[in-house]
Amino acid sequence: MPPPPIVVLGAGVIGLTTAVRLLEARPDAEVHIVADHLPSDALDAHYASTIAGAHHLSFADDKDLRQRRWDMRTFEVLYDEWRRVGESTGLMALTQTEMWEGASSHLEVYEQHPDFRVLDPADAPCANISHMVSFTSLTIAPALYLASLERRVASLGGRLHRAHVTSLPALSSDPALLALYGRPPSAVFVCAGLGARHLVEPAEAAALSPTRGQVVVVAAPWVRSGHTRQVGALGGSEGGTRTYVIPRCTGEVVLGGTMEAGDWAPYAREATADDILTRAMDICPAIVPPHARDAGADGRREALRAIVLRDAVGFRPSRAGGARVARARVGGASVVYNYGHGGAGWQSCWGCAEDAVGLWAGGVARL
Ligand SMILES: Cc1cc2nc3c(=O)[nH]c(=O)nc-3n(C[C@H](O)[C@H](O)[C@H](O)COP(=O)(O)OP(=O)(O)OC[C@H]3O[C@@H](n4cnc5c(N)ncnc54)[C@H](O)[C@@H]3O)c2cc1C
Repeated sequence: MPPPPIVVLGAGVIGLTTAVRLLEARPDAEVHIVADHLPSDALDAHYASTIAGAHHLSFADDKDLRQRRWDMRTFEVLYDEWRRVGESTGLMALTQTEMWEGASSHLEVYEQHPDFRVLDPADAPCANISHMVSFTSLTIAPALYLASLERRVASLGGRLHRAHVTSLPALSSDPALLALYGRPPSAVFVCAGLGARHLVEPAEAAALSPTRGQVVVVAAPWVRSGHTRQVGALGGSEGGTRTYVIPRCTGEVVLGGTMEAGDWAPYAREATADDILTRAMDICPAIVPPHARDAGADGRREALRAIVLRDAVGFRPSRAGGARVARARVGGASVVYNYGHGGAGWQSCWGCAEDAVGLWAGGVARL
C-alpha cells in the first residue's frame, strides 16, 4: 500500500512554495493542497498573497538572524530564477532606492544585495531625507508567480482542491475532505495565513491579527525602478510610516501604503487613496505620465488619477513574535506550522518553505 497522503492547508505563496519543496524532497509523496482561495480567484482582501506589492525589501532587524536568513535565502532563489527565466514567471529585477526620514543608518541586510550603495540624501527627490541607499532587488507580480507555482505543483504530481477546513482533526474525519485524498493524512502543513487563527490552540490564535494594507495600482510601464520612504522606526518589524512605489514586469505599478493594525475594513477608503497618490508623487515624481510632468500640482494629480487601474485592500497575517515555523503532533498526524508572515510572506517564502519541509523530514531548523 502506498504511504498515506500529505495535506498542505492553504494555497497562498506560503502553501504553494511549501508544496513545491515537499514534492521536490519526496517525489513519491502524494501531496494535496486544500484551500478556500486558489490562485485564479478574483482579488480578495482575505487572500493576502494576491494583494501584495510585492517587492523583496527585507525589514529584518540586524539581530533577527532567523528572518534575515529566510529573506536572503528567498532573494537568492528568486534572483536565480529571474536570471534563468527572465520575467516569464512575474519577477522583475530593478534598482531599489530606500530613503529614511529621521534615521542615519540602514538595515544591515541590504548590504547583502548586489550593487549596494550609500547615496547622498541631498540627491533625494523629496524633502527631509536623512539617509538613502540603493541596491538591486526584485519585484513580483503575484498573479503570474502564483500561477507558475500552481503549474510547478501540478508538474510534480501535487493536486489542488477547493475546500474549507473547520479544524485540523476534521482533515482526518470529515467525509467530504477524506473524499478528496482517500485516507487520513500522515502529515499536515498549516499554511493558512490569517485563517490559521481558527485552526490552532487559543493562545496561538490570539497572537494572530490582521494588519490592513491599502494600495493604488496604476498603469505606468515607464517606471522600472523601486522607491521607498520610511518615516519613523521599523521597531524590528513594520513600524513607522512607509511609502512605496513598486513597478511590476506587467507595466502595473503598486503605490502604497498603509499598515493598520487590527483593522478589518475590506474596502478602500478614498481619503487614504488620495494620500497615497500624494506620497507616491513625492518620492517618485516620474510616476506622473510624461506629458503632465511640467503641469502644476493639480494637473499632475489629475494625470496620475487618469492612469489608476484599481484600489486594493489586503490583510497581512501578522503574528506577535513573528512567523510560526514549527512542528507538533495533533492527533495521529505530524503537523508543521508555517503561517503568520505579516508583511514579509513573499520575501521570505522559499526560506520558510525549506525550513518547514526540513522540520517535517526530521531535521532541525537552523537559526
Ligand atoms: C497591501 C499588502 C502589501 C504587501 N506587500 C508585501 C511585499 O511587498 N513583500 C512581502 O514579502 N509581503 C508583502 N505582503 C505580505 C504578504 O502578502 C503575506 O505575508 C503573504 O501573502 C502571506 O501568504 P500566506 O500564503 O501565508 O497567506 P494567504 O495568501 O492569505 O493565503 C492563505 C491561504 O490559506 C487558505 N485558508 C485559510 N484558512 C483556511 C481554511 N480554514 N480552510 C481552507 N483554506 C484556508 C486561504 O484560502 C488561502 O489559500 C503584503 C501584504 C499586503 C496586504
